[in-house]
Amino acid sequence: MDEEQIWQSVFEKLRLDGIVNEEPQVIEAMDESFTDKSDVIPVSRTKSGELSKTSKVYSTEQFGEISAYVNHVIEALGRRMLAGEIDVNPYELKGKNACTWCGYRSICGFDEHMSGCSYRRLRQMKSDEEIFAAMEHGLQESGMDKNNAATEKKPDQGEER
Ligand code: SF4
Repeated sequence: MDEEQIWQSVFEKLRLDGIVNEEPQVIEAMDESFTDKSDVIPVSRTKSGELSKTSKVYSTEQFGEISAYVNHVIEALGRRMLAGEIDVNPYELKGKNACTWCGYRSICGFDEHMSGCSYRRLRQMKSDEEIFAAMEHGLQESGMDKNNAATEKKPDQGEER
């Protein structure tokens, strides 16, 4: 392995993971030297100049939808907690669960080996389309528009689950 290959391997290890806004000016701002494959963000181009299918990108609209959904979930959780809902109800997904890094582990009383204690097993979603459809459905059910909270319906405390 020559020096250039070593540096290439270092860059690949250091490349940020996650999702990037697909707008050209955003990509350029995040990696000024991006041409065909970024060393910094998970984005590459095909020979015709399009972003490749392996690029991890969402549109500005999709980021707006994620943001609206996260805000909706935060509000809904807040309302449920204010209504007194503090059940011990940890999730599990793909062998990982909420308890792994939890600071309340020694006092909450949850033990999966005890009767009455079981993880709330989340269904793994297989595609972005499925995830966005589920978020849109959640927002519609709560009376919110997918792009913002402008049409939000204000449910009574504890109404929403
Ligand atoms: S350790 Fe207890 S409080 Fe923490 S996530 Fe698990 S069940 Fe919930």
